[in-house]
Amino acid sequence: MTSMVTNDIRGDISLVLNFYKAFGFESLPLDSADTDKEAALMALRHEIGDCRRCKLSKGRTNLVFGEGNPNARIMFVGEAPGREEDKEGRPFVGEAGQLLTRLINKMGEDLGFERKDVYIANIAKCRPPGNRDPEADEIETCLPFLKKQIAIISPEIIVSLGKISAHTMLGRSGPFNSFFITKERGKFGEYRDGEISIPVMPTFHPAYLLRTPSDKVKTWSDAQAVLKLLKHPAMRGMI
Ligand code: SF4
Repeated sequence: MTSMVTNDIRGDISLVLNFYKAFGFESLPLDSADTDKEAALMALRHEIGDCRRCKLSKGRTNLVFGEGNPNARIMFVGEAPGREEDKEGRPFVGEAGQLLTRLINKMGEDLGFERKDVYIANIAKCRPPGNRDPEADEIETCLPFLKKQIAIISPEIIVSLGKISAHTMLGRSGPFNSFFITKERGKFGEYRDGEISIPVMPTFHPAYLLRTPSDKVKTWSDAQAVLKLLKHPAMRGMI
């Protein structure tokens, strides 16, 4: 991972060090990749601050940064916080979040991971009014933060939840209404950001699965493909 830490992130780590120095610490124990990642995520959260960079700031209660293991092998990316998430400041904690938690825990039975071992974030970090989809300008403004999170965590696989997330993670440029998650799900695509390339598995958003439980079987099939790649990383070159 160390080689993937960008100069920007190194600068962010310096910010954290300076912050601790101001409180009398001589240094931070930055001698492991784990601590590097934690420190870089802390610095990123510090950089975002009380963000007012887009209009979603007006209606939010809490900014939802994301949570999980900085060393996660899988990162789940939704579109934006909903009502419960906005209230708690945590991603996927409402009914859809509970379904996602069950999915993750079920996926992890074989490989020994659960929700706390993956990383969960959203394309936009503030709740859109009335739970509407985040708009293109809001995504454009907020996306650099998620890109930095991905660069820091460097997951082996990204699972995008729903149409907006898949469209964004796959770097599609067309309008959202010409992108159909029903057609795109279940096939690995690629997230690219400079030198970074990570397989993306698009699947349904858990909120959709609450409305359409018969499609849970398709999401489980997508999850199986993710697990197969995690178990056999050499397959990555064949995707
Ligand atoms: S959605 Fe992102 S860019 Fe917009 S105010 Fe929230 S954190 Fe800032």
